[in-house]
Amino acid sequence: MDNEITLSFIAKGENEALARMVMSSFIAAIDPTIEELSEFKTVISEAVTNAIVHGYDEDGIGKIDIHAQRLDREIVVSIVDYGRGIRDVKQAREPLFTTKPDEERSGMGFTIMESFSDDVDIYSIPDRGTTVTITK
Ligand code: ATP
Ligand code: MG
Repeated sequence: MDNEITLSFIAKGENEALARMVMSSFIAAIDPTIEELSEFKTVISEAVTNAIVHGYDEDGIGKIDIHAQRLDREIVVSIVDYGRGIRDVKQAREPLFTTKPDEERSGMGFTIMESFSDDVDIYSIPDRGTTVTITK
């Protein structure tokens, strides 16, 4: 393993920016282009926002762990929450599907994550939590 880190924080909106900053520093080692960096930050932002707002309704109590690994130029990041979970993962991945249409959510988070990364794996157990693993 070339590098490996774990970052833990509570489900608070302001921690999304923190996660984005830490993860951009983490991938600096592969010397990404401006575009790669911007896409990577967007992917992290979407996944972490989902954990905060859907996993925990932004309760400021629930724990989120980000586990990141780098092997040569490959980056694998898992965003883990222990919250509500996703009942139907296939449906959640569909463009425009959202369970919070009232809160200006467009249901595009997973679609964006998929288009800006090589692979998005979603493992979720209702009422236990969700792990989203992104490979780039
Ligand atoms: P947007 O990302 O465009 O603001 P959204 O968050 O609703 O809208 P997605 O990110 O694509 O859209 O997520 C789709 C749905 O999957 C969410 O509406 C939510 O029901 C569910 N979901 C996603 N991540 C989680 C999570 N960590 N825990 C529980 N449910 C989740
Ligand atoms: Mg989302």
